[in-house]
Amino acid sequence: MGSSAVQQVKVAVIGSGFGGLGAAVRLRQEGEHDFVVLERGASVGGTWRDNSYPGCACDVPSHLYSFSFAPNPDWPRTFSGQPEIRKYLEGVVDRFGLRGHLRFHHTVTGARWDEGTARWEIETEQGRYSAQVLVAATGPLSDPSVPDVPGIADFPGEVFHSAQWNHDYDLAGKRVAVIGTGASAIQIVPAIQPKAGRLVLFQRTPPWVMNRMDRDITAAERFVYRHLPASQKALRGALWLVREYQVGAFVKRPGLLKVPEALALANLRKHVKDPALRVKLTPDYRFGCKRVLLSNTYYPALAQPNVDVVASGLKEIKGSTLVASDGTEHEVDAIVFSTGFHVTDLPVAEHITGMNGRTLAEEWEDGMAGLRGTTVRGFPNLLLIIGPNTGLGNSSMVLMIESQLNYLADYLRKLGSTGAAALDVTASAQLRWSDEVQRRMARTVWNTGGCRSWYLDAKGNNTTLWPGTTAHFRRETRTVDLHEYDLIRTPAAAPVNV
Ligand SMILES: Cc1cc2nc3c(=O)[nH]c(=O)nc-3n(C[C@H](O)[C@H](O)[C@H](O)COP(=O)(O)OP(=O)(O)OC[C@H]3O[C@@H](n4cnc5c(N)ncnc54)[C@H](O)[C@@H]3O)c2cc1C
Repeated sequence: MGSSAVQQVKVAVIGSGFGGLGAAVRLRQEGEHDFVVLERGASVGGTWRDNSYPGCACDVPSHLYSFSFAPNPDWPRTFSGQPEIRKYLEGVVDRFGLRGHLRFHHTVTGARWDEGTARWEIETEQGRYSAQVLVAATGPLSDPSVPDVPGIADFPGEVFHSAQWNHDYDLAGKRVAVIGTGASAIQIVPAIQPKAGRLVLFQRTPPWVMNRMDRDITAAERFVYRHLPASQKALRGALWLVREYQVGAFVKRPGLLKVPEALALANLRKHVKDPALRVKLTPDYRFGCKRVLLSNTYYPALAQPNVDVVASGLKEIKGSTLVASDGTEHEVDAIVFSTGFHVTDLPVAEHITGMNGRTLAEEWEDGMAGLRGTTVRGFPNLLLIIGPNTGLGNSSMVLMIESQLNYLADYLRKLGSTGAAALDVTASAQLRWSDEVQRRMARTVWNTGGCRSWYLDAKGNNTTLWPGTTAHFRRETRTVDLHEYDLIRTPAAAPVNV
């Protein structure tokens, strides 16, 4: 247990993935040194610390999936692996002198807005903090979701989630079930298939899979990037631009997606010769409705004789036998749940309590909402990194994070210049924003493509993705418009609308 004294800081950041570290760098660049980064893990990296499964790599090219302010000329591959990305983030800590701000093993168990002091009172497993501004960078994909399958408690073998890989368990020769066919599963399956005795893939829905243009980045290229930084910048720009153009098809003209759909079908035909397997692997919804997955090795792995694709979900477990919804039974030694994360029911929302004792989870009972993906009515001076409707289907989340960092920097400036203790979004500004986002969402392939994806919440609303280009989001988050906020001038005083 830590000390019982409350540590006072200007800003408390929760999380040390791309979002939390980015916030820390930006705070320092803005001349703000009075902040801590509270992290429940033992090191930084977030996604890239936790997901160490075989084959784990980014699916947006590394030269785009990295901070613009911390280019890495030494990326080893187009789509670098988890160890390299984790090393990169550790490098960011040292490059920007962040170590002194980091507090590991500091799970935030509660953060309560105190209307009397106009501050966030934060409880962690190692002591209390009081902050004027709270930045929650807890990650959209950081809390693993494991379905409550009947009989799982009595399964005698090994069970783990893809984000909590048990490296002590040797899969060699074992009968392994992989549950799920999302972005993690399609990396895991080809990586473990050669080792496993038998691999049973439980597939509720087949994904659309495109070829991944992955290759080693040569020493010569790296030399050029190191000595001619403009060349790396140009590459990043080109990678960004292609994705900016692509998004139009997802958002406005899903009809255009017939072209990549045909390419994906050709990819399937090329690698899977067995007609019955091909039928199982052919999606019955529009390309792009679920995240499009990139792999050159997934289909070839599924075509191997030691692999069974069960085109059905997992219904129950009887001893070591997995029973699929289609009634087939499969005896296995180990189960790997590649079943994603709590995305629209973020656990941290239950621990953040705003005005009138209302938790963020209660506020979001009908779905996540906020202004510009960042602030939420009734939660003054709380900024969410990767909040509602900031996710991307096809480009780098780091671009969105950096936009939110611009907003954070301007937020702190405005807070200082107005002399207010806090800012609270007006209900009308938040509603206007959410309505506009949902209006643009209505025609996207994510909402109209005929699938049920993790982008949608329990009510079927898409509260996760950004229906536009990253440039559009950048413009929308460049500055804080004070007309969208109530100013809380003195503690416990009534808000003043400007
Ligand atoms: C396997 C995988 C591959 C991905 N590949 C890509 C890709 O190629 N391109 C892309 O754009 N995106 C990708 N993503 C999405 C990825 O999550 C984001 O790009 C980005 O890493 C999110 O950063 P973050 O800091 O917001 O969250 P995270 O990296 O999840 O970090 C959140 C941090 O908050 C900490 N935390 C959470 N709750 C608490 C608490 N209560 N108290 C204290 N600390 C807490 C966590 O321990 C974690 O360290 C991928 C995701 C996964 C899971």
